[in-house]
Amino acid sequence: MWKTVILILSVTSAVWSGVPLLREKLPLSPRQEVPVSGYRLPNNTSPLRYDIELTTHVHDHGSPNQFDFEGKVKISLRVLEEVQNITLHYRQLTVTHVKLTDAANTVLVNDDSSFTMDTTYEFLVILAPSVLRVGDYSLEIDYHGVLRTDNGGFYRSSYTDANGNTRWIATTQFESTDARHAFPCYDEPGTRAPIGLKLTHGNTYHAISNMPIKSQNPWNATYTVTQFEDTLSMQTYLLAFVVSDFAFVSDTPNKQSVYANPVSISNGDLNFALEAGVKVIAALEDYLQVGYSFPKLDQIGIPDFAAGAMENWGLVTYREEALIYNSTKSPMGQLKRTALIIAHEYGHQFFGNLVSPKWWSYLWLNEGFATLMQYIAANKAYPDLRIQEMATVEALQNAFQSDALESTRPMNSYVETPTAISALFDDIAYDKSGSVLRQFQHAFGDRVFRAGLKYYLDAMQFKAATPDDLAAALQKAVDEPNDFPVNLNVSDIFYSWADQKGYPVLHVSRGADNVITLRQERYLLKPSKDAVKATWLLPYNFATYQAPDFSSTLPYDWLVGETAELRPLPSLHWDNDDWVIFNKQQTGFYRVNYDDKLWELITNELHHGEHSSIHHLNRAQLIDDSLNLARSGHLGYDVALKLIQYLTKEEEYVPWASLNNGLSYLNRMLAGSAKYNLFKQFVWELVEPSFHKFGLTSKPSDSHFSKLTRNILINWACQVGSEECLTQTNSQLAEVVANKTEDIDPNLKSVVYCNGLRNADRDTFLFVWDRMHRSQDPSDRVLLISALGCSQDPELLELYLETSLDETGDASYRGQERSRVFSAVYVNGKVGLETAMKFLAENADTIDRLYNGGSFGGRAIGSAVTGMARRVVNKEQYDEFLALNTKLEAAGYLNANELATAKELAGENVQWTNTNFGVIERWLEANVKSGAMRVGTVSRMAITSVAVLIAALL
Ligand SMILES: [Zn+2]
Repeated sequence: MWKTVILILSVTSAVWSGVPLLREKLPLSPRQEVPVSGYRLPNNTSPLRYDIELTTHVHDHGSPNQFDFEGKVKISLRVLEEVQNITLHYRQLTVTHVKLTDAANTVLVNDDSSFTMDTTYEFLVILAPSVLRVGDYSLEIDYHGVLRTDNGGFYRSSYTDANGNTRWIATTQFESTDARHAFPCYDEPGTRAPIGLKLTHGNTYHAISNMPIKSQNPWNATYTVTQFEDTLSMQTYLLAFVVSDFAFVSDTPNKQSVYANPVSISNGDLNFALEAGVKVIAALEDYLQVGYSFPKLDQIGIPDFAAGAMENWGLVTYREEALIYNSTKSPMGQLKRTALIIAHEYGHQFFGNLVSPKWWSYLWLNEGFATLMQYIAANKAYPDLRIQEMATVEALQNAFQSDALESTRPMNSYVETPTAISALFDDIAYDKSGSVLRQFQHAFGDRVFRAGLKYYLDAMQFKAATPDDLAAALQKAVDEPNDFPVNLNVSDIFYSWADQKGYPVLHVSRGADNVITLRQERYLLKPSKDAVKATWLLPYNFATYQAPDFSSTLPYDWLVGETAELRPLPSLHWDNDDWVIFNKQQTGFYRVNYDDKLWELITNELHHGEHSSIHHLNRAQLIDDSLNLARSGHLGYDVALKLIQYLTKEEEYVPWASLNNGLSYLNRMLAGSAKYNLFKQFVWELVEPSFHKFGLTSKPSDSHFSKLTRNILINWACQVGSEECLTQTNSQLAEVVANKTEDIDPNLKSVVYCNGLRNADRDTFLFVWDRMHRSQDPSDRVLLISALGCSQDPELLELYLETSLDETGDASYRGQERSRVFSAVYVNGKVGLETAMKFLAENADTIDRLYNGGSFGGRAIGSAVTGMARRVVNKEQYDEFLALNTKLEAAGYLNANELATAKELAGENVQWTNTNFGVIERWLEANVKSGAMRVGTVSRMAITSVAVLIAALL
């Protein structure tokens, strides 16, 4: 699955910290597999195959049973030990009849009463008249249900056709625990069986599923029965089917098709997805040396979709906007996002589908690998985009944020309830696990790593795996004759990274005797004396002034235990005034801190030497590490701020992206400072040379990275008030409003709209809202919804938030868009945050009901509160925020873990303000040339004709 919201941080009770050098020392938790609270199936029976028959009337617009469905499932099963009952999962279904026969075809049960239904544990228990002996049985269940509206299970979605009519479709989203809503089943990831599927649907519609169609026959004058080939042995959560009147494009030789609403298909919006799908699967098969196992692979864009995408085997479903790319109207960033999301879901066809995790505790075996593969496969498919280089700034540096909290969790975490399972789809499962796997890829060497992955996929195909299986496969590859640098046990390495929460910072210091001392400790955003001591098996390497080769990422050695010493050798020498950089290309999952002298030498090289002598991924690392080490009190802000001043010379994208993250934090925190203008001046000095060099318009010769870099530069230039930037973006938006044109470079549309709306008047705001409201293009809607939140007018923001609660349908929001309106507002500075807090306090009940309408996770408020916590900066906001959270918790909208995480994040910010405000203000006073910038105070746009225009539009 592709995560929707990056702001969810989950906390589990199953945490443990220790120093696992030897496996025998490990306690049971967090790798427990024994049920503790009753949500697990007894698994004393197991499925051999399913035959499902479903009837939907979704085509029948206006009929009273349009959204009802009827089902029958026949489960061939094996009783593994003598039992009295057969226990299965179900959710929100009405069971009407059960029939149980034994292997000799003797009917044991055939009625409408020999079963019980437990709504808490979601168990359907079939009661046998006498003990069932070990052997094979056949169970048939008749039931009916309703297509859901929360984008989970078997659910309904709609789109507007070319004639403006609403068309309904029926579709599915089963991960993690919603297959049980379409048919009673063994709904656990470690349980597999082949599935036969027959769908009865209106004959103006068609049906697709994981497998090719076997037959299509009329059932009566208006209905058709579509039967699919049997799937291979498969987990229930990977089943998918869609009944719609969508159109499609196909690459027949490569057995791939892409489905979407007919308008998008005829616009050519899905052509890139088809091309990328073909390239990406070839890239994965080549990298893994394992073939894709189903006979076809389809993709489909669904208008209402809770996550970003879902890897159903042979039928990958996406939120429509994630799959669309049109070279004439989409920004370049969308091309990258689409390539990445396809590579992620296709990566799952191997990691998650071919080999599944034995239980959700090991979700990282799915999501970590899909995150790693998204960068590897998209990069192989589109090398010019340089996507692989983004793995540090997007995944690793993002994981560093979440995993630096005390309330984080280990990669292996045991949970049982459906809510706790959905909470596992977090930064740890995705970005941390993907980055830890990337660390192994480089530490073992790509050749050994790939060999190990092939052993893993070959040995465990069509089976359920644990991290032990992966470790054993990698161990086998490591043990083959090769240059694996040190004799360490792969299991020990795994346990050190997957069973401990958090990650290390490596302290590097050099004494007068030229000896380098290494020391590791857990990195915490808020260092605590009570923190449990932990160490990791840490692979390290380094480049120096005399040996500035950053290309090999194999370890020089592994740090085992807390400290180690390095002496210069004749072959690898350094002098006392040479810079050294550890963790080449930031492949290791740890931060690096240096002593004062080393930071000074590095900073000097960046400022006065050839900054490009340090690899650009390490320049990004130095920016991210120094700013975050300063944030957590490990390093003086004077060191970090001085270091980043070298960016006046920087032209590479990844360092700018890294700085963008760091500056966003400082900008948020310093917005209330008396010296905020000095900070803006400081930022302007950093961006100005490159801003002028890249300019405000795209050039035909621009690379993907140039376009992304220009966006960052324009955004900061406008945000700190560059008159040149504001005048140009304002006038571009004014032109759009005045002439009703769409004539903005798609790569700049987002910055032009956002910055143009910052100070725009009510009429301009309403014009953009109306444009969003009328747009049928989902990616355009994403952009406009986010841009509207950029307004700094509290009245307009409040009005905007109110539209997210519209129940008349006039606002035309899709389920997932309501919460997006809310986050667009709270992410945009003090005005946005405070307006959103007030709005949440006043409307919590409605927000919970409506925002969760588009998300089967049901945690819309929890995730918004975590996002808001990161933006609370002072005591006054903190007190108000805490009072709000307490109320939300009392009303049941926040759970204790969400409350704890929000408190930790917001508390850290307030503490930061107390500690660092003065320090940074003094540094800015001493180091920034005050008043050099022509800061714009661009007046609100006066567009006299707009009022008339709006009246005509609304
Ligand atoms: Zn995924």
